[in-house]
Amino acid sequence: MKAKGTVYLVGAGPGDPGLLTLRGAELLRVADVVICDVLVNPELLRLAPASAQIIERGNHKRDGGLTQEQMTGLMIAHAKEGKTVVRLKGGDPFIFGRGGEEAEALAAAGVPFAVVPGVSSVVAAATYAGIPLTHRSHCSSFTVFTGHSDSAAPATALRYEQIAKIPGTKVVLMGADNLGDWTKALIAHGMAPDTPVAMVERGTTGRQKSVAGTLATIAGLAAEAKITPPAITIVGDVVKLREKLNWFERLPLFGRRIVVTRSRAQAAKFARGLSRLGAEVLEIPAVRGEDPDNKQDFVDALLALNSYDWLVFTSANGVSAFFNLFFRQFHDLRDIGGAKIAAVGPATAARLREFHLQVDLMPEEFTGAKIAAAFAKHSSIENTKICLFRAEKANPDLPRGLEALGAIVDDVGLYKTVPETEDFFGAAEDFLKHGADWITFTSGSTVEFFHARFDLPKLLKQFPQMKLASIGPETTKTLAALNLKPAVEAKEHTTEGLLKALVAAKL
Ligand code: SAH
Repeated sequence: MKAKGTVYLVGAGPGDPGLLTLRGAELLRVADVVICDVLVNPELLRLAPASAQIIERGNHKRDGGLTQEQMTGLMIAHAKEGKTVVRLKGGDPFIFGRGGEEAEALAAAGVPFAVVPGVSSVVAAATYAGIPLTHRSHCSSFTVFTGHSDSAAPATALRYEQIAKIPGTKVVLMGADNLGDWTKALIAHGMAPDTPVAMVERGTTGRQKSVAGTLATIAGLAAEAKITPPAITIVGDVVKLREKLNWFERLPLFGRRIVVTRSRAQAAKFARGLSRLGAEVLEIPAVRGEDPDNKQDFVDALLALNSYDWLVFTSANGVSAFFNLFFRQFHDLRDIGGAKIAAVGPATAARLREFHLQVDLMPEEFTGAKIAAAFAKHSSIENTKICLFRAEKANPDLPRGLEALGAIVDDVGLYKTVPETEDFFGAAEDFLKHGADWITFTSGSTVEFFHARFDLPKLLKQFPQMKLASIGPETTKTLAALNLKPAVEAKEHTTEGLLKALVAAKL
């Protein structure tokens, strides 16, 4: 008999995926079923095993998602099948999130459960807007309440006459819709109309927006700034500190919408780098790596590794694909043999170093001619045996250039690049509606396949403010073939180089 399943109510944090707890991440990695709320950042689902069943609850009222009862029923049913269920809830599960009710239902059904606290928007959205909820010079307490009054539950109705009298900071959740009502109520019950107030929408994400005013003015200012839920409102003197401490909104890429087109498997580090600098990242992978059509060449090359003088890798991706396949066959790194190793570009060399392999030759650029020239400078390659490990059906210039110098070249396909057509979490849909500030390209194939899917010149006409960023000359060349010119090209042809170029562009 299978062990009884457990339901974990896990706080997913306020939006920034970096604010998930370690315990939350640990549980996601072993989940059989993940049920997540609308406010949860879908990025977190990357942590779940590929085999996990993902259920997005959706907004019941807006898009016909699951009702609270259906969702609770689902959790119980899966747990009774012996599964590990992770119920991801925005912020902290027990703060205005119905987590308490869900836990009660689980207890009533006799289903084992545990609760993992999360970083609540109460503190996180305030912190990312540069507002400390307590400060020795301003206050020594804070009060949290909801601005959404539930007329069906008079027992928990808010008493503004009391709230208005409590000293310290006030934080209001779900207060965006009837902001005018509760701010007036607080003034009517004695709070000074000029009490500082700030609102923070989508705090901790690349779409964070904040405005500040006073109890008397905030409703007008928020309407002007088109603040919509989810937003928190902070009332009190500490709001004045925002001017000085607004660290997040001052990050160099804050407010920029940036499209990442590299494959989903490769995008994580670059995407994270962009969001750490404050950007809103739209992951719209243009390509995906698949096993090559011809696997025999690789098998043959593996068995003859010792007969080569040089092994050449042209991308970090290729290095990973090589070792994935290599370790299916061998269990000892020494089976790679004694050939010299060449890597094209620093990112490829860095991936090889992760396997503790030193690179003997590193041509900086991707062009066949430059690589062949680098070899020629290193030593004569006449009559040497070279094995190229790269994408299947890659540009023939490189093997031709090496053969022209007298080398005997095997060109082995490790993977093939195919167009990605899936829209992960609606980023492509959002992009087509609202455009972006930047589209980043990290290879010629990302340009080709992105163009095939979206028609780049047409997009640029539709969103004239949108700019292109290229990782290096080969990628720029592919853009040039479409009569397009990137606004920036990275000096160092890595994603870090591209990140630096975007920051330096100050656009
Ligand atoms: N359990 C959640 C709150 C759920 S109630 C938590 O601990 O954060 C939903 C309300 O939370 C929203 O109406 C809004 O007031 C607030 N909220 C959630 N995420 C937010 C965010 N990223 N920025 C600002 N407010 C947020």
